[in-house]
Amino acid sequence: MELGFDVCGFAEARPLDYLRNFYNQFIDEDRQATIAYLKRYAPQRLDPEVLLPGVKTVIALLINYYPPELIPEEDNFIISKHAHGKRYPPLIKTKLNQLTRFVDSFDKTGCTSRLFVDSGPVLEKTWAQRCGIGWQGKNTVIINPSRGSFFFIGIILTTLEIEPDRPETDHCGTCTRCMEACPTGALDRPYQLDIRRCISYCTIVDKAEMPDDVRSNLGGRIFGCDICQDVCPYNRDAMSTSETHFHASEALKKMRRNDWINLTKDQFNELFAGTSVGEKGYEGLMKNVMIVMG
Ligand code: SF4
Ligand code: SF4
Repeated sequence: MELGFDVCGFAEARPLDYLRNFYNQFIDEDRQATIAYLKRYAPQRLDPEVLLPGVKTVIALLINYYPPELIPEEDNFIISKHAHGKRYPPLIKTKLNQLTRFVDSFDKTGCTSRLFVDSGPVLEKTWAQRCGIGWQGKNTVIINPSRGSFFFIGIILTTLEIEPDRPETDHCGTCTRCMEACPTGALDRPYQLDIRRCISYCTIVDKAEMPDDVRSNLGGRIFGCDICQDVCPYNRDAMSTSETHFHASEALKKMRRNDWINLTKDQFNELFAGTSVGEKGYEGLMKNVMIVMG
């Protein structure tokens, strides 16, 4: 918590054999779309021992990115909340590095740890649930029962043995709000995302093809989509993050529809230096602007 994480939990590092059939079916149905690494590293994903020999414990952490001030959507194009601020992996990696050093200091005989943030073949959401810090909702996002789902996840594997927490249970109940609200039908089955029809994937991932029914349902979204999280009742009282790294700049908050349409490459570089939108590049973002304009 001192490092700025909001929630933390522990799980015994065991092979995730019970997921093997589900995972294979996901790959067989090509639901990973162009995200080739999901297919490539299945053994590592299902068994943490392959990633860190002797691993005993998985530590899962959540860090809140909910912006304190939402960018107005009226007369505007929309950028997902997770992309309002700077790129999150460098910041979270720094924090996880500090934490792994702290964890390693507990075992004088020498334990080792590996950290993962949006990198490496680790099923972050599955481990978050096993560590008791949230459950994977019908929108497939990790939801903490008291804090909601606007969080990034960090994972540490360690050879240090730590008493595990109880896995979190499902609290979706009969609710289907996210599935009903998804404009493209990407949540056609509960707890499963058809990436190919997801606005987030189609507007963020470079090689993504954008099917016609996604194009016509973007609703002004040019980078990411928050609809299935915004409608989730567990996000009703989402608290904003005090981590300024995730806050939108004043310049981004002032952007309106006409500013996007007339955005030059120099302005783009200034606006999005060090952000995930910046990684997509000027041409990639402007292509999305053109698409939402029809
Ligand atoms: S992010 Fe948007 S498009 Fe993707 S599943 Fe959620 S609501 Fe549907
Ligand atoms: S909107 Fe309802 S069904 Fe969807 S993730 Fe949230 S609680 Fe679960």
